[in-house]
Amino acid sequence: MFQYEMPTKVYFGKDCIAQSGDVLAQFGRKALLVTGRHSAKINGAQQAVTDKLDALGIEWVLFDEVESNPSIETVRRAAEVGRNEQVGCVIAIGGGSPMDAGKVIALLCTNDLDDTALFTGPYCPPLPIIAVPTTSGTGSEVTKVAVLTNPHAGTKQSVGSPLIFPKIAFVDPTFTVGVSRRVTIDTAIDALSHAVEGYLSTGSTPMSDVWAEEAMRFLGIHLDALDQELSYAVREDLMYASTLAGIVIAQTGTTLIHGMGYQLTYYKGLSHGRANGILFPAYMKLMEEAVPDKTAKIWELLDVSGLEEFTEIMKKLMPGTVDLTEEEIELYTKLTMPTSAVKRTSCEVTPDLVKQIYRSLKA
Ligand code: FE
Repeated sequence: MFQYEMPTKVYFGKDCIAQSGDVLAQFGRKALLVTGRHSAKINGAQQAVTDKLDALGIEWVLFDEVESNPSIETVRRAAEVGRNEQVGCVIAIGGGSPMDAGKVIALLCTNDLDDTALFTGPYCPPLPIIAVPTTSGTGSEVTKVAVLTNPHAGTKQSVGSPLIFPKIAFVDPTFTVGVSRRVTIDTAIDALSHAVEGYLSTGSTPMSDVWAEEAMRFLGIHLDALDQELSYAVREDLMYASTLAGIVIAQTGTTLIHGMGYQLTYYKGLSHGRANGILFPAYMKLMEEAVPDKTAKIWELLDVSGLEEFTEIMKKLMPGTVDLTEEEIELYTKLTMPTSAVKRTSCEVTPDLVKQIYRSLKA
């Protein structure tokens, strides 16, 4: 038995917001726009949304203070705005941070949750969520998870519920055209890790594998050229792959790479994609032994000869090392072990194994 759930209505392609007719009219007379400080204004996404809202006669208020790796405090402040303004929906525009924040803000507009219940539920339905990604990585526009920084737990933590699947995702590759090379690489590797981890997860299903293979195929074609100038057509492929990979993890969850990577982001300030990228080769080495047939298929889909070539590509895209003290390794391992990401990993994960992988990042 397996389940497949993907309730988000996806509009994909250039000018998809302008071409969406009156679909936004069903969510009330006022919307809360949730963005980071700058990028949604520069890449055209905010304008595309407000043009559509204005044309439909829907009022909007803007909360543009979402930081990367958003905090509980920020989402509470934004929800306060949403409640006071009595908005009917939340439109989250940006990379993973504004989209994840938007999901939690929509929950907090309809639920009174303390800092513990925020992560555990139970939840009443949130305000409808509309997601507009402006990077090709997180896939958050089609997932039921939002990751926040939780200082109480000393790491990044997930809010997860089918209730926070966005109602609508407007996926327009145009918004990613100006994304810097560094962010393009980091986010593409995040998308790749979603496809690969989902494919190798103990929660993978025949239906999630369809999207995972397709996502890997679209990412594989461009993997070696991510550090070069990218055409619109390539940007389109990356965004398509990122959304497909999001659909995958909405079914399967993520595994050891994400479980370990969160610590590198929280404590060492590595971007999410970069943290995943530097852990990737060690993970694939484990998977070659644990799930050899699927790993061989991954190499084929990515058009690489095997672990050695893949490691070389990752090292080229993610140069540098992470030097951790034994105390840090001890703490990060303690935080990683109880996560569901570990449970979904297709090999036995012991504290010693996790420590060994963290240590290997030095070399
Ligand atoms: Fe991720």
